[in-house]
Amino acid sequence: MYKQAAKVIKNAERVTAFTGAGISVESGIPSFRGKDGLWSKYNPEFLEIDYFYSNPKRSWELIREIFYDFFGESEPNAAHYALAEMEKNNLLKTVITQNIDNLHTIAGNTNVLEFHGSSRDLICIECSKKYPCIESRLYSLPPKCSCSGILKPDFIFFGEQIPEPAQSLSFAEAELVDVLILIGTTGEVMPAALIPYKAKENGAVIIEVNTRESNYTNDITDIFLIGKATDVMKELQKKLGIG
Ligand code: NAD
Repeated sequence: MYKQAAKVIKNAERVTAFTGAGISVESGIPSFRGKDGLWSKYNPEFLEIDYFYSNPKRSWELIREIFYDFFGESEPNAAHYALAEMEKNNLLKTVITQNIDNLHTIAGNTNVLEFHGSSRDLICIECSKKYPCIESRLYSLPPKCSCSGILKPDFIFFGEQIPEPAQSLSFAEAELVDVLILIGTTGEVMPAALIPYKAKENGAVIIEVNTRESNYTNDITDIFLIGKATDVMKELQKKLGIG
């Protein structure tokens, strides 16, 4: 399976990765759902946009604790670095990620489409001015813009639109790829979940990396590499001759 995956990647003109929460689990960031997921510990209402507008301080207290104090300590793992190495060796064009943790960029990928935005920046809900999220901005909550508007993390909350141009660029990329590598995604979050189907419709080979079967596995996946993202991607890197 690994040899076959490596061959398909080497022979392709355009290979892209589509990643979800599973790729960052080994960096210490839990996924949302499941037994150890964030929603087993927290009520997700603090990430609903209407709740944020009516309770910005309460919402921000949890956002700071989870997405900045806790996730902020995380570093890329071997799977993130494998994708960066593939890009350096012209074996990967783009990473489309549903994650908001910025770990692909930190690992060294330069062409990253952040479908749900990123925790890296804050955005004013009044004037849309953006600020890099440095620690001191979160000393007093909620953080404020120079126009006095409230700042929110520049990732989407439940009830918000997918940011542009990430959405259109991601779907356009799905139409261009010969190979799409899915890593650590269930395929349950819409509309991101449609990207692999769009790629398949356009003739792409789908390689999937996951610890267990997802919505895609028995439907559109051509090569299923079962296992933890770090183990699988290290092995794939070796087979590609770049490990
Ligand atoms: P999900 O939580 O629905 O599913 C995670 C998937 O990863 C599952 O299929 C699981 O089997 C797999 N997985 C778990 N550990 C793995 C490992 N070590 N190696 C390989 N696969 C592993 O994730 P989703 O499909 O990305 O959807 C959840 C939504 O929540 C997305 O929008 C995502 O961006 C967001 N989210 C992001 C982060 C983050 O930024 N790191 C964390 C949690 C949730």
